[in-house]
Amino acid sequence: MELSALGTDVERVIVTEQELQTKIKELAARIDSDYAGRDLLLVGVLKGAIMAMADLSRALQRHVDMDWMAVSSYGSGTKSSGVVRILKDLDRDITGREVLIVEDIVDSGLTLSWLKANLESRGAKSVEILSILRKPAAAKVEVDVKYVGFEIPSDFVVGYGLDFDEKYRNLPFVGVLAKHMYS
Ligand code: 5GP
Repeated sequence: MELSALGTDVERVIVTEQELQTKIKELAARIDSDYAGRDLLLVGVLKGAIMAMADLSRALQRHVDMDWMAVSSYGSGTKSSGVVRILKDLDRDITGREVLIVEDIVDSGLTLSWLKANLESRGAKSVEILSILRKPAAAKVEVDVKYVGFEIPSDFVVGYGLDFDEKYRNLPFVGVLAKHMYS
């Protein structure tokens, strides 16, 4: 869905489709090099990471396994709380695997730090994180995100997998949701 079809829902575009695609190729090249000769299991966090997983996996020049988790941070509206519940678990055992979590956005970092610890506790050989977007201003928890696409301001954003009320995931860019949509 293009910006012109959105009316006034999106206040401004902060990462364009072209910038996303260029960055994904850059991150894929780093991952190809870092994981050369090693195992690699991509774990996508549903539903936000669907676009990132689809684009990243196709940009990699190697075989990868893919699995998915769905988690929900308790809390409503546009803030996360850090209390995490697993809605869909991995299909396979990850003992000894080299895991790369693929996430859409790190805000407080609470969801990812919980998820990383959870996967490490299952005996993975390594657990690293890739996040397309990061909001540094909001970092309450130090979480080591090895691959970051873009540092963005603290505004609530939608697109490229990120939703508001299940909408806007299918935008090929990332934009700031207009305040009148949720206040
Ligand atoms: P954290 O635990 O890092 O605060 O929150 C991470 C989760 O909150 C993300 O996976 C995402 O689902 C949601 N989230 C945080 N910021 C935004 C945002 O700007 N837009 C949308 N759509 N979701 C967000």
